[in-house]
This record gives sequence, structure tokens and C-alpha cells, in this order.
Amino acid sequence: MHVGPSFSSYRIQLAGVSENTGFASPDFLDAMKYSLEGLLYTAGADDSYLPFILPGSGTVAMETVTSLIPSGSRTLLLTNGVFGDRWIPILTAHGFQMDVLSADPGNSVSMDDIEEKLEGGGYQNLIMTHVETSTGVRMDIEGVSKIAKKYADRIIVDGVASLGAEKEDIARLGITAIISASQKALGAPPGAALIVASRAALEDINEFSYFFNLKNWMTPMERYLEGKNGYLSTEPVGVILSLSRVFSDIRTIGLEARIDEHRRLTLALNEGIEAAGLRVLAKRELWSNTVTAVLSDHADEIVGRSMALGIEFATGVHPKLLGKYFRIGHMGYVNDFDALSALSVIERAAAQSGEKVSIGEGVKRAQQILYDLSHGK
Ligand code: PMP
Repeated sequence: MHVGPSFSSYRIQLAGVSENTGFASPDFLDAMKYSLEGLLYTAGADDSYLPFILPGSGTVAMETVTSLIPSGSRTLLLTNGVFGDRWIPILTAHGFQMDVLSADPGNSVSMDDIEEKLEGGGYQNLIMTHVETSTGVRMDIEGVSKIAKKYADRIIVDGVASLGAEKEDIARLGITAIISASQKALGAPPGAALIVASRAALEDINEFSYFFNLKNWMTPMERYLEGKNGYLSTEPVGVILSLSRVFSDIRTIGLEARIDEHRRLTLALNEGIEAAGLRVLAKRELWSNTVTAVLSDHADEIVGRSMALGIEFATGVHPKLLGKYFRIGHMGYVNDFDALSALSVIERAAAQSGEKVSIGEGVKRAQQILYDLSHGK
């Protein structure tokens, strides 16, 4: 239950293992078309958007989407932690001007601060991270978009830890582009960078790069959407075979139901953590559907002991809290019994590490919540 690559399923992984599937083969072209369409659906996009699947990772998607930012324009960056901060070196490397609003770990940048800054600032672009993986904080995508639309021309969202497990609804919210990666909330193996961008914004591209440039990827993606070969650079064939299976699952279950499932697990895990006597870093109203950060002075020891007990969690990475917290990933294909096992392992590992915990109380609380929420209570 790491925060990425996230918990996948053997079914999804096996879908990517195939005998010599070429990048122009019908099997691959079907999977690519289906995945591009699934990406649009999952982001809540309509025909006014173009989906992109590139070889790469979340950072590749971050860097590539910045080709939507015109040179000379100004950007307001909202950051709740390490991955929000990652935009700073990326924008700087391409010579973009930006101002940064940041929050302390566990918190989110406030709406009043955002409005005040945008009102006075002359910003054309706003960048935000929906779920900040370093702290488990979810930013209010709806609230931020509403304010940002009044002042800025472009809203760019990092959905790496949220797409497929949180509601993005980009067409309704007027979001210009969202990025993600195959291995996080979606639960496919690593290797594909995902972007959905407004066609209107794609008419004005900053051509600072060859690979990291959406313009060069537009015709290839249009061709893939027609079921034709769109080669520009070799796509991660196996990853896309897996990814298309994830999108098939999302369509079968329904996006809303998948998001509700992640919410259920969040409530069970986070309340379970608190019932056991530990503290969740994020404020309750900011709890994300995919990452739970847990405070403890014994955090690294708990992660080590949990690994020995059979479950892998992630250590904390926020520089202000190193060694003081760890993270539970509940992305991808995590289910009720993974959540219960996780709490059971954490209770034991925390007790062994000298943390004051009530053995069994976390599991009990989570079991009750999961039971109640699956029986309509
Ligand atoms: N954004 C967020 C919110 C992330 O969680 C991550 C990865 N942890 C990234 C961007 C970067 O993605 P990658 O590691 O795939 O380059």
C-alpha cells in the first residue's frame, strides 16, 4: 500500500504481458484508442478536449503540459507540499515567471489568499495539485477553479494522485488541462504520462522543446483516436494494454462508484488510525481519497516493521516533517480487506516501535465503518 506505483491487480498486470505486441498492431491500436477515450471520460472532459498518452511518468506530463503556457505570461502556483513545489524547477527551467502560494504540511492554501493574489496580480495561468501526495491533502478543485476562472486564462491541474479516485470534472469546472500518470490513482503499471488539454488552449503552444511539446503530439493522438498508427516515439505498449483494462473497469463499475469506493476506504482508514490512537496529518475536511499521512515520532521504524509484517507503506517526504510521519497509499485496486490488514499491521508495528496505541481499536472502527457504508447506513 505504497503511494506509487500503487496497488494494482494481477489481472491488470497480466493484461500487459503479451507476446510481441507491436506499436502498430491492431491489439495495441485498439487499446490506445480505448485508453484515450477512457482518459477523457475519467477526467470529465468532452469533445472540446484532446487526450494524450505519452511514454513517461507524472513528471513528463508536468513538463510537457507547460508547453501550454505562453512565454512572457505570469503563473500563480498553489502548492501544498513536495509535488506542488516540483513545478518550481520545471517552470524555472523553461524561463517562466511565477509566484508561489504555499501551505504548511497538512493544510491547503486558503481561498481568500488565492483570490487576493489573483485580484492584484495580472496572472494568466494558475497551477494546482488536486491531491498532494506528500501530505495526503486534497485541494478544493471546485472552489479554486471558480475563483481562478474570474482572473486567469488557463488552469492546469496535477491529477497524478487523484485521476480515477477523485472527481475531476474538468469540462464543467472550466479547467484547461489535467495531467496524470499510469501508476498512481489509476492503478496500472508505471510507464505512461497522461494529459487532457483543451483544444482551444492547444492552438497557442510554446514550442520550447521537441519531446515535451504538446504540438508535436497532437496529430499522433488524433490518429490514435481514429484507430490509426500515430507513432512519434515508441509508446509503452504493455502499460497501455494494462491501462485499457483499468479504463474498462472504470466504465464497468462507473466513475462515481469507483470514487465512492475510495471515499469509503478513506473514512475507514483515517478513522481507524485515529481510533488506534495515532493522528492523521491532514485536517479532516482535507482528507484525500488516495493518500493518508500518519504522524508518529516512530514513523520510519513503523514503516520498516510493517514491511517485515508484509505490507509496504511509504515514508514521509515533506522536508519539514522528515521521520515524523508515514503514508498509506489507497490508490488503484485497494479493497476493504487491504484496508483492514493495513490497520492491523500498523497497530502492531506502532506498538512494537513504542507508540501508545490501542491494539484492535483501529481495526474495529474501520470494520464497523466499512460494514455500515456497504449496508446503506
Ligand atoms: N505529482 C504528484 C501529485 C505525484 O504524486 C507525483 C509522484 N509521486 C508526481 C507528480 C511525479 O510523478 P512521477 O514520479 O511519475 O514522475
